[in-house]
Amino acid sequence: MSLALLRWGVFLLLCWFAPQALAGEANSRRPTARGAKLVRLKNGQLLQRDAASAYQQMKAEARTKNIYLWVRSGYRSPAKQRRLYERYRKGKGPQAARPGRSNHQRGLAVDLVIGDVTTPTYDWLVSNACRFGFKRTVRSEPWHWEYRPRTTREPEPGFDCVGRPLKLPRPETPSVASTEKS
Ligand SMILES: [Zn+2]
Repeated sequence: MSLALLRWGVFLLLCWFAPQALAGEANSRRPTARGAKLVRLKNGQLLQRDAASAYQQMKAEARTKNIYLWVRSGYRSPAKQRRLYERYRKGKGPQAARPGRSNHQRGLAVDLVIGDVTTPTYDWLVSNACRFGFKRTVRSEPWHWEYRPRTTREPEPGFDCVGRPLKLPRPETPSVASTEKS
C-alpha cells in the first residue's frame, strides 16, 4: 500500500517537473535559434553567422555602386527586445515586436539606415537585396530586412529583384581586345 503510494508520488512529481524542465530548455535556446553562432560586424552589431556573411557580401556589392549600407540594429538579446517593447507600449519608442517574436532575437533581422523610401539606398535594396536572401517583412518598417534565404525568391537570371535588367560590368572587353590583336 505504502509502496503504491510512493510510486504514485514519484509519478506525480515527474509529471509536474518534466514539462517545466523541457520548457526551460526551449526558452533558453530561443534567443539564438538552432544554436546559431553570432558574428560581430565591424560596427559592433551582432548577426547570426550566415546572415552576417550574406550581409557582408551585399554591403560589398552595394559599395561598388556608391551605396553605403549600415546596420543600426542587428541581434537583440531578450532583455533588449523587452526594453524596446516596453518603450513602444508606453508610446516612447518606435514599433517593436513582443519579446520572443522578433527575428532580431535570432540574429536574422537588420534595421538599416536608409533615410526614407525615396533614397538611392532604399532603391538599391529593393532592387538587389533578394539576391542575397534578404527581404522586407514589416510593411510599416522599410528599414527592417530579414535574412530568409529559403523563402526569398531569386530573381530571373540577368535581372534584379524587381525585374529590371542587371547592368553587368563588361567582362568581354579583354577577350575582344585579344581577338582583335590576333
Ligand atoms: Zn527591425
